[in-house]
Amino acid sequence: MKLTNLVVGPIQTNCYIVEDAGETIVIDPGDEADKILEVLDGRPVKEIVLTHCHFDHVSALSALEEATGAPAAMSAVDAPRVDGQSVDGGHDIARGHGAPHIDRLLHEGDEVSVGECTFSVIETPGHTPGSICLYCASEGVLFAGDTLFAHGGYGRTDFEDGSFHDIVASMRDKLSGLPGDTIVFSGHGPRSTMRYEKHVNEYLHAN
Ligand SMILES: [Zn+2]
Repeated sequence: MKLTNLVVGPIQTNCYIVEDAGETIVIDPGDEADKILEVLDGRPVKEIVLTHCHFDHVSALSALEEATGAPAAMSAVDAPRVDGQSVDGGHDIARGHGAPHIDRLLHEGDEVSVGECTFSVIETPGHTPGSICLYCASEGVLFAGDTLFAHGGYGRTDFEDGSFHDIVASMRDKLSGLPGDTIVFSGHGPRSTMRYEKHVNEYLHAN
């Protein structure tokens, strides 16, 4: 698996381009579509996956859909805030393109595959009701979106529809059991490992 991490937009969102065995997916095209397309360099995109609905994770989706023709996938819970919507929370998420379209609605246990790598969808509500993480056991990789951040951090829950109770339950019940050597790639900031986060994040102490 080859991973390219682009930092895009005003809130320094991590957009990930994941390639394996000739296939490519894009996770969280938050902004700066031109920069993402430059890295893709004309390679076909199998799927665009969104960890949640916030504007800083989806604002290059319309442009990427138009440029690549790739289908988009996200949680069924968050999808209504993106699918067919040009504005979310006062933010222009279409950026002069047509409204984005969500082609596949994801649920707990669904799979996102790229080449030989298969990611399982883990529903981790809290930051938004439809926040998801993507976990690939064979590669030991977790894309955590804005649920989990490096150095003991976790997503804000003071936005509309956020829930501190839910994000704590998501970390404790859904993430704390992942192997220590899992590499955590978050929606913002540096990467980490589950082993380190279990030491510093009190909500991951369950296991
Ligand atoms: Zn967010």
